[in-house]
Amino acid sequence: MATHSGIQEQSTHPHFDIVIVGGGMVGISLSLLLAKQKRWNILLIESGPLDGLAPSASNRSLSFDERSTALSWTSRNIYQTMGLWDKLQPCCSQIRQIHVSDRGHGGLTRICAEETGVDGLGYVIENRLLGSVLTQKLRKEAISLYGNTQIAAIQPLRSGVELRLSSNNPNVDRTPSVIHADLLVIADGANSKTAAKLGIYSQQTSYHQTAVIANVQLGQRHQGIAYERFTDQGPMALLPLTDFQGQYRSSLVWVQPEASATSLVEGSEHEFLEQLQKRFGFRLGRFKQVGSRMAYPLTLTLAKEQIRRNVVLMGNSAHSLHPVAGQGFNLSMRDAAALAATLSAAHQRQRSIGSVDVLDSYYQQQLSDQRNTVMLSNNLSKFFSASSMVTTLGRNLGLLALDGAPQLRQGFAQFGMGMAGGRHG
Ligand SMILES: Cc1cc2nc3c(=O)[nH]c(=O)nc-3n(C[C@H](O)[C@H](O)[C@H](O)COP(=O)(O)OP(=O)(O)OC[C@H]3O[C@@H](n4cnc5c(N)ncnc54)[C@H](O)[C@@H]3O)c2cc1C
Repeated sequence: MATHSGIQEQSTHPHFDIVIVGGGMVGISLSLLLAKQKRWNILLIESGPLDGLAPSASNRSLSFDERSTALSWTSRNIYQTMGLWDKLQPCCSQIRQIHVSDRGHGGLTRICAEETGVDGLGYVIENRLLGSVLTQKLRKEAISLYGNTQIAAIQPLRSGVELRLSSNNPNVDRTPSVIHADLLVIADGANSKTAAKLGIYSQQTSYHQTAVIANVQLGQRHQGIAYERFTDQGPMALLPLTDFQGQYRSSLVWVQPEASATSLVEGSEHEFLEQLQKRFGFRLGRFKQVGSRMAYPLTLTLAKEQIRRNVVLMGNSAHSLHPVAGQGFNLSMRDAAALAATLSAAHQRQRSIGSVDVLDSYYQQQLSDQRNTVMLSNNLSKFFSASSMVTTLGRNLGLLALDGAPQLRQGFAQFGMGMAGGRHG
């Protein structure tokens, strides 16, 4: 098997240049970015079935569930360079305006796409649709796929790593039990089981909050407006979705204290809609129906190491953020694009893609973007959740100030569009 990444140990085991563990939104997107360069022999390993369909109740760790994701301008551009935007765009609803308000207080601001010179401040897509487009593309690429498979053990080698696999794959005869790789990319989500096998753990800080998500049928059109509303219980976002069978829809993310989230998810549809209407008001008319409701306990999870010789952590395995600013996946897309560019440059200079120098240059490049995004998401989550008089007053004044200051608003919008580091267009 041809390799471009330096000396290899003699081995009878199958060899891959790059093995990516975790076929979620990040793992698949990165596989496609790397495959586009047609340089490497790539394997993607996923513990689930790898079909991009909705997970069953017993398999809720998959990326492609009932959530929706607000793709930033930068993520859109990355998918465009991958030749995928034409397929994704019809599934997306453009955010033309962000409307921020505070329940029971006067502060209110609007951020418009026109002010920032783009057609959309973001593009909202249901994760299942994103998954379906990504997995269709995956099957057309020269990427080896092992579904229903996990890493049982990792052994560092002189060059690369040896991976022992455990598989529930029905095609188990075709899945080898040991493989070698020059570079192992760990993208199996927060609290990565695979990273733990290397003694790489993460620092976790619970927000003591839960995000309740659901799709909601609206009484009137959303007009491309994303609503971010502070309530006494926590912030809520209603993001515009494409119409479905003539129904107007938005995707709800409602951050709650842990206890009340359970009753919202388990209570009746009628109770849920009544609570939502009371907290949100009638800007989108009367809410008519709610789809499946799911709860996500919120924790800031940061891996203690992101790179080692022949190993790199990506996506939620590296950093999992509060969803209030809709930045977790978008940050990971910027990381993925930077990693693909770094590996490509290393390949051209005939450097080993697993060397610490190469991986460290990727990490150093992304560090300030990661730090800024983590800090801003963390601060926003606290700011949006605070209920003390002083913070509420400051927040309302802040919103009013933001409304009167186009430059400040633009700074806010650029953060949302994934241009926080200023390098990404
Ligand atoms: C409510 C909510 C709303 C959000 N909204 C936004 C948003 O609008 N914009 C945004 O940018 N981000 C958003 N995010 C963040 C975004 O969802 C995450 O950044 C994204 O899911 C990370 O994807 P991932 O592929 O790294 O991890 P995951 O989605 O966790 O995927 C990991 C994959 O690895 C697989 N796996 C697990 N263990 C193993 C194993 N041992 N071996 C092999 N495979 C394994 C899993 O089955 C899964 O397929 C939101 C998050 C939440 C909770």
